Amino acid sequence: MKTVVLNTGYAMPTPGFGVYRLSGEQEGVDAILSALEAGYRHLDTAAFYGNEKAVGKAVRQSGIPREEIFVTTKLWNDVQRTGIVAEAFEKSLELLDIGYIDLYLVHWPIEGKVTETWLAMEEIYRSGGVKSIGVSNHRIQDLEAILALGGTVPAVNQLECQPYFSQEEMRSYCEEKGIQMTAWGPLGSNRAPLLEEQVLKGIAAKHGKTTAQVVLRWNVQRGIVPLPKSQNPQRQRENLDIFGFVLDEGDMADIAKMEQNRRLGPDPSNVTF
Ligand code: NAD
Repeated sequence: MKTVVLNTGYAMPTPGFGVYRLSGEQEGVDAILSALEAGYRHLDTAAFYGNEKAVGKAVRQSGIPREEIFVTTKLWNDVQRTGIVAEAFEKSLELLDIGYIDLYLVHWPIEGKVTETWLAMEEIYRSGGVKSIGVSNHRIQDLEAILALGGTVPAVNQLECQPYFSQEEMRSYCEEKGIQMTAWGPLGSNRAPLLEEQVLKGIAAKHGKTTAQVVLRWNVQRGIVPLPKSQNPQRQRENLDIFGFVLDEGDMADIAKMEQNRRLGPDPSNVTF
């Protein structure tokens, strides 16, 4: 499994396996087990997904040594508003039941709470139950506020990133600050005919790959760790098989032209949930 090294020194396997909306408790466990069997070593969950227990169960059942699997979970918005961040972390730790968490992320930036939440995240980091801390869906202004505290630099910012919304400004900002970007919804989250785009079909045919593999590879070549989700074992393997080819400059430029400043998911400037 390929890895990237975070600013904490820990290795994060790429790509990761997203577990949002894995349906059914046992089906969820089975899908994660099949992903681990296919070779994934990075699981992306969140308190909000309601499946931390299934993730922990699959990790324990897999027989793979704990230290070989990288597990991310996230702090939900309600607990930022009520300020019970440490309790929420303990709850995730208990539900996962895998000893420690590799990466704990602030799921969304909540207006007026960004720095307060980050200070609470640093307390958790010092407690030792988590190897790295970071954020998700944070805008440059949120990161600037966190960096101005002069404490821990977030190890990761996890964001929506697909060819209609390439996050190029954020990518170069994170690169400069030593923050690893990870991509949610890398395949378009089933919300748009992204994978049917003629440009992607042409590039895929040229390399003998699928359009899903092309968009995942595009993120990898930009230094971003994609987090595709699939409950289908054949697609799980397909989404992992992205290292045997290279997109050339022309391919990368053609994909860059697909940029439309078009999010398929929620906008962090409007977090009402
Ligand atoms: P995704 O882009 O990974 O799309 C998943 C869907 O694409 C699947 O349900 C399936 O229908 C389809 N698919 C998967 N592999 C395919 C293939 N090879 N060919 C064709 N279709 C394929 O979207 P997602 O699930 O929204 O995002 C992935 C992960 O990112 C989530 O599971 C979650 O872990 C994370 N996420 C994080 C946030 C956040 O706010 N931090 C938000 C959304 C998702």
